[in-house]
Amino acid sequence: MSKAPPPAPAPAPAPTEAPAAAPVPKGKKKRKPKVSPQVYKFYKVKGDALERLKKECPRCGKGRFLAEHKNRLSCGNCGYTTFKKS
Ligand SMILES: [Zn+2]
Repeated sequence: MSKAPPPAPAPAPAPTEAPAAAPVPKGKKKRKPKVSPQVYKFYKVKGDALERLKKECPRCGKGRFLAEHKNRLSCGNCGYTTFKKS
């Protein structure tokens, strides 16, 4: 008696992958804030008036404050630097 080979299973139909919906591109979509989120540090509310705690840049005008360093103040926007009087 010879063993009959088992019947080959019917080939399953290749699964058709449903096309993914819109592929999400992986990109850096971080927007740089125009104004530093630290601006609240530069103002102080006095009653109904604002007091500026830091010096503003004379070149860039209002809204641009000078960064305080040990011996100088500098503007990160235009590079204006003024040295502190000691
Ligand atoms: Zn400036």
